[in-house]
Amino acid sequence: MERLPFIAGNWKMNKTVGEAVDLVRELKASLAGVQGVEVAVAPPFTALYAVWKELEGSSIHLAAQNLYWEEKGAFTGEVSPIMLKEVGCHYVIIGHSERRQFFGETDETVNRRIKATLTQGLKVIFCIGETLNEREGGKTFSVIERQVEGGLKGFGDKKIENMVIAYEPVWAIGTGKTATPEQAEEVHRFIRGKLEKLYSREVSDKIRIQYGGSVTPENVKGLMSQRNIDGALVGGASLKGESFSKIVRFKEL
Ligand code: PEP
Repeated sequence: MERLPFIAGNWKMNKTVGEAVDLVRELKASLAGVQGVEVAVAPPFTALYAVWKELEGSSIHLAAQNLYWEEKGAFTGEVSPIMLKEVGCHYVIIGHSERRQFFGETDETVNRRIKATLTQGLKVIFCIGETLNEREGGKTFSVIERQVEGGLKGFGDKKIENMVIAYEPVWAIGTGKTATPEQAEEVHRFIRGKLEKLYSREVSDKIRIQYGGSVTPENVKGLMSQRNIDGALVGGASLKGESFSKIVRFKEL
């Protein structure tokens, strides 16, 4: 089954409003006319509105990096799905390893966040991945299985279709160590098999699975040539227009 490649840039805690607008302006120009690939950028909360305005008329989608599951109320410091919808978000990244590692995110809280996001009609980029210790301890597949089952608990076929999964081995994030295309493909194949068991062949065939972890213009093509790798979630290399555009245009490299 043909799945539309999906390249998303996770800007993390980078870019002031002015810098964010400059970067999307550059991306709009450098990506004009690109076809056959979906693109999204995930600026910090403070730049979402301005980036949304700058993206008007462009096919680049806007993503947020996190949210809280309640609609509103006494949750100081949090942002709700409705608020993100209001500023033009299409996707929300959920369960990024930095959230799990530094902000106490668990499979259960990831599950609550995914539920709230999908309920509001937003799409999810659901991040999973093993640490170096877990990989070296032979636990990669059991960790991935636990994260998939935990994060997707209670979802039917219809909802899951609004989801993209990002496999991001924690040891490859921001380290310059990329998983080889074969290492990544092995896990992507496992995730797709798990989705088939949880849902159906039809559903698992439709869901896009991105790879994330030190993706660059140099390694993207090899990764994208794998059967079960349908895109990339890009951190560091998404902060510069030139490298992110090259990654989006991976077919031309
Ligand atoms: C990420 O944080 O999602 C990521 C993949 O980062 P990097 O590309 O910098 O490794």
